[in-house]
Amino acid sequence: MLFARESVVKDLHVVLIGAGIGGLTAAIALQRAGFKVSVHEQANELGEVGAGLTLAKNANKAMRSLGLTDKLVNIGFRPENGGRKDLMTGVIHDFMSVPGDVRKEKNGKPDPDPDARFCMYHRADIHGLLADTVRAHDPDAIHLGHCFQSFTQDGNGVEVTFSNGDTVKGDLAIGCDGNRSVVRQALFGDDKVDFLGYVAWRGLVPVDAMPEGTIDTDTSVFNGTHRSVVRYKIRGGKTVNFAAYAQKKDWADEGWSVPARKDELVAEFSDTCEEVQQMIKHIPAETCFRWGMFGREPMKTWTVGRVSLLGDAAHPMLPFLGQGAGMSMEDGVVIARCLEASDTIEEAFLRYEKARIERTTLVTIGARFNGLKLHGTIEKALEERAKEFDAITINDYNPATVPI
Ligand SMILES: Cc1cc2nc3c(=O)[nH]c(=O)nc-3n(C[C@H](O)[C@H](O)[C@H](O)COP(=O)(O)OP(=O)(O)OC[C@H]3O[C@@H](n4cnc5c(N)ncnc54)[C@H](O)[C@@H]3O)c2cc1C
Repeated sequence: MLFARESVVKDLHVVLIGAGIGGLTAAIALQRAGFKVSVHEQANELGEVGAGLTLAKNANKAMRSLGLTDKLVNIGFRPENGGRKDLMTGVIHDFMSVPGDVRKEKNGKPDPDPDARFCMYHRADIHGLLADTVRAHDPDAIHLGHCFQSFTQDGNGVEVTFSNGDTVKGDLAIGCDGNRSVVRQALFGDDKVDFLGYVAWRGLVPVDAMPEGTIDTDTSVFNGTHRSVVRYKIRGGKTVNFAAYAQKKDWADEGWSVPARKDELVAEFSDTCEEVQQMIKHIPAETCFRWGMFGREPMKTWTVGRVSLLGDAAHPMLPFLGQGAGMSMEDGVVIARCLEASDTIEEAFLRYEKARIERTTLVTIGARFNGLKLHGTIEKALEERAKEFDAITINDYNPATVPI
């Protein structure tokens, strides 16, 4: 529980732009701290995004601080075992009886903390839980069909305009509008988002449809050169979340997430092991998507006056540490604590940036490094930048107690 203290900023109205994982987590943390919150989402409904998510210890700590741990148990899948496999042969190099317990992998001692175990989710299930929690605090907090267009700010507050002509006035605003953030563009002008050299395919495979015994371990990472596959069970173990990655020179499609043609995926992985080929064969065409992986160099500041950024909008990162959602959850918990502890909005944003920019920069670089390692293509320069990176320290962060 975040304890309220007398502070000048306590009565503020916080405008959150984007109702994704980060925006909704921030909304809950702010509501619990007693702030008025409105969340403005471009979509007309909060729909199903067909993909899996892993939450590690740090994200579990964020969820625990918001009172959501017990509810997460009901919608998550806790793997009992996992394996690193060869993409071409399917041979297991490294069997793990408790995947995700990094300490156990490293020195043989399991971490006794109940939050240490990874859990796997369907993204829509976590998203639904977060949205329901926001609405339980305030049924009118989430505004759909509100696509951010522009904002103005002065000494008294911020006014945000949406493309349908609606406006909202608040004391401060936070762009939680994802990787291709328009709020970031409005704050910092021309925004250089680069293609980071990976194309991903994702899909959901019903386990029952697969030949018996094909899916052995609960999670598997298949390492290859320039290609990899990650798969794990979700939804009571009945569905497999499948993600395949290939290093590519460019991304020619107009969108950055597009429905994929199954035959492309089949062709790209036609020489791989039986398990991968069977999964690809059994992905229903309508759940198969192709993504270009885009990102940008870490930023030195996220804030202009009364407007700041959170989640992928502030620090887009590659998925190779499975930490993008975790970082956005951490941001949400920390920004609420900073506002609660500060006497002015300026002070709160300064504390927020101090607590978050260095950490998210390290994780962004760590995810790039891990991607290269996974694909057998380490770059010397990045190795140097990533040497401070250590998965155990990353997972050990607790956003509810870290100094702010
Ligand atoms: C293949 C893949 C696998 C991944 N696996 C993992 C994993 O295992 N674990 C993990 O922690 N992370 C994972 N991630 C990353 C994770 O999904 C993101 O980092 C996380 O969703 C970021 O949350 P966010 O709130 O910043 O952005 P999002 O969840 O993307 O939400 C942004 C929201 O803003 C809305 N929006 C956009 N533009 C506007 C606008 N103009 N006006 C209003 N609203 C707008 C969007 O509709 C959306 O609802 C993965 C990512 C990929 C691509």
